[in-house]
Amino acid sequence: SRRVVLKEYVEGYPTEEHMELLPAADVDEAAAAEEGSVLVKNLYLSCDPYMRPKMSRPVGQSSYTSAFVPGAAITGYGVSQVVKSSRPGFAPGDLVRGITGWEDYSVIKPPFTGLLAKIQPDAGVPLSYYTGILGMPGLTAYAGFHHICSPKAGETVFVSAASGAVGQLVGQFARLAGCRVVGSAGSDEKVELLKKKFGFHDAFNYKSEGDDLAGALKRRFPEGIDVYFENVGGKMLEAALLNMRTHGRIAVCGLISQYNLTAGEKEGGTGVRNLECLVTKRVRMQGFIEPDHKHVYPEYEAWVVPHIREGRVVYVEDVAEGLEAAPGALIGLFHGRNVGKQVRASYWT
Ligand code: NDP
Repeated sequence: SRRVVLKEYVEGYPTEEHMELLPAADVDEAAAAEEGSVLVKNLYLSCDPYMRPKMSRPVGQSSYTSAFVPGAAITGYGVSQVVKSSRPGFAPGDLVRGITGWEDYSVIKPPFTGLLAKIQPDAGVPLSYYTGILGMPGLTAYAGFHHICSPKAGETVFVSAASGAVGQLVGQFARLAGCRVVGSAGSDEKVELLKKKFGFHDAFNYKSEGDDLAGALKRRFPEGIDVYFENVGGKMLEAALLNMRTHGRIAVCGLISQYNLTAGEKEGGTGVRNLECLVTKRVRMQGFIEPDHKHVYPEYEAWVVPHIREGRVVYVEDVAEGLEAAPGALIGLFHGRNVGKQVRASYWT
């Protein structure tokens, strides 16, 4: 049994040296037997961008989740199988999704057991999907698009980081809602996926556009953007602001281009340009987080599962095998190495 721990807090880009694969202590049988606890075998672990802010030394209230503890197993979303349960309603053999540890076995204790949800084994979808399309990123895309963007059929939608865990879904949901959707991504391979697999009406590789991102958007949105689903921030946000239509909406899902800036880079930054467009074009820009929308999950699951089964919504995953691959897979998110949703599978699945 093994676990991946954070060795020390990270400044700038994380590297494999910031994490360590260690033998895990024996399963804490006493903790597993405590009222409300559940011992699980971890089958799939999710690598998500929000884990990066949790690797920084905590300062004030910069993130909505608490920092990782150096020396302890990294925590994150996963799909697991119950081995032993002291929580009513959960029995050995049950498949569950929720917050678990980057280790072969985890004892999940309250309050985290409250976040565990049972998976119906006969749903007819791959188990790993519960870290992606049927997990946190899926609900993020659905609630973020439908509840924050207020889309209407016929409107134009732009999605950045469009081939990733969240973006590939926003694009498909926008198309199903009757919108015209364009995505940006960081390689020609990803752009092909956007157009051929996910049905984006158009897509471009932002790394090939030089400094003229505003021009790249202008060519694809001659009449402007009604909805921008923001995943990256920085220069893409500045370019999108210039191309927004009057009464457009920007849903701020994430700002991945900012997560690895050092304190010095943040201090020395000049801020986001073109914010005056919010005023002149009366644009609504709203941040949101998935935990506020958990109540929408049943509605979302009931809607999306038939869409998956019948092929109307597809999902591309990038699966890294084995716990030892987890640090590299997480780091890869910040260099665009993942093609689709980054998942880490156990060697025994
Ligand atoms: P992805 O699967 O999209 O992986 C991250 C991708 O971001 C990379 O593959 C890369 O794609 C792109 N990227 C990385 N660094 C940069 C950079 N400096 N500039 C531009 N693009 C970059 O991740 P997710 O779909 O899981 O997450 C997407 C966004 O949504 C993130 O900002 C994340 O924090 C946010 N999020 C927010 C949630 C919420 O509740 N608000 C919940 C879940 C996610 P490429 O090759 O295209 O550059």
